[in-house]
Amino acid sequence: LVPRLRPFTSTIFAEMTALAVKHDAVNLGQGFPDTDGPAGMLEAAKNALFGGANQYPPGPGRPELRAAIARHRQRYGTEYDPDTEILVTAGATEAITAALIALTEPGDEVIVIEPYYDSYAAAVAMAGAERKVVGLVEGEDGRFGLDVEGLRAAVTPRTRAILVNSPHNPTGTVFTRAELESLAALCVEHDLIAICDEVYEHLVFDDNEHIPLVTLPGMRPRTVSISSAGKTFNCTGWKIGWVCSTPELVAAVKAAKQFITFVSGGPLQPAVAHALDHELAWVDGLRSSLEEKRDRLSAGLADAGFAVRPTAGTYFVCVDVRPLGFTDAADLAWELPGRVGVAAVPVKVFTDHPDEWKHLLRFAFCKRNDVIDEGVTRLRKLV
Ligand code: PMP
Ligand code: GLN
Repeated sequence: LVPRLRPFTSTIFAEMTALAVKHDAVNLGQGFPDTDGPAGMLEAAKNALFGGANQYPPGPGRPELRAAIARHRQRYGTEYDPDTEILVTAGATEAITAALIALTEPGDEVIVIEPYYDSYAAAVAMAGAERKVVGLVEGEDGRFGLDVEGLRAAVTPRTRAILVNSPHNPTGTVFTRAELESLAALCVEHDLIAICDEVYEHLVFDDNEHIPLVTLPGMRPRTVSISSAGKTFNCTGWKIGWVCSTPELVAAVKAAKQFITFVSGGPLQPAVAHALDHELAWVDGLRSSLEEKRDRLSAGLADAGFAVRPTAGTYFVCVDVRPLGFTDAADLAWELPGRVGVAAVPVKVFTDHPDEWKHLLRFAFCKRNDVIDEGVTRLRKLV
């Protein structure tokens, strides 16, 4: 393996899930749901599978899916031409990697906000670019907010792009309009491309709102908006994602993407098109059930003695392990499956500054209530 990829030999999700399986642990580590998505979507996939949709789909994605994605983005007041401004990818992961490969040269800098989703650092490295990491900052209320000054200080003449993830994995932060305005101002002032990972766009709780960065002034020409079906429709294994941007930026991402996977998920694409057009009421139900699950797990974790941080969206809640007498959540995470039969993910693995983040542990609440309850029962025996 070449030196620049040596830090990325395995993912924490695979490691923790393997450990969970080994110990028959309740897996509150890797974020994937344990129930299926809407029946109409599964039926549409079955019909496509038996209806002959089993060869290569068109390079940019099936036309009905690109049309459905364009209609879906209208909910934010943004218009995209399905023929030139939308590209279907193998999940958001490929979209992010292809965007970085297509839009950065070796030596360019990419600003990454930490904690960051694990593929970001590897994708920046694969593109040959350099990551400049700026941390979220914890407010008095425990919310992790944007460090606007830190971001400003991180920009150099070599900065080409910024990776923005909201709703944010792992903290559950949903950026406010004020935070997004600062980000947009920075991008416009320094001519940066914003690569926005919006995979949790529908999983936003209470009166929080997902505002795509692209809707802010000056951002439409410079934003690559990325999302995927996995989190919205409980089908993380389908890996149907998409990119919405300008014709120039989409053409660039497509140039890289065509030589990574070319195409993928032929029979699943019409099913996701169906879901985007017809299953958003199902997604409303998913959102309210996840909101209850967030409350259920947060209350249980507090009861078990952790200091629970607030979470406004996503599948995840972070806790401080120090009140239970632990100092490093990673040590605890490695022990937890064997000791009490629960798996979780330490936040520090998503950062370049492990010491600053070592007290935090991430739990996923996208699980059946009986699974959450069993996890909490086991965690109560921790100390
Ligand atoms: N971004 C974030 C923030 C994620 O949590 C995930 C994990 N699902 C992804 C991207 C990957 O999305 P996909 O499965 O569509 O590749
Ligand atoms: N997005 C999921 C998480 O953060 C897992 C994705 C993966 O396993 N690669 O847990």
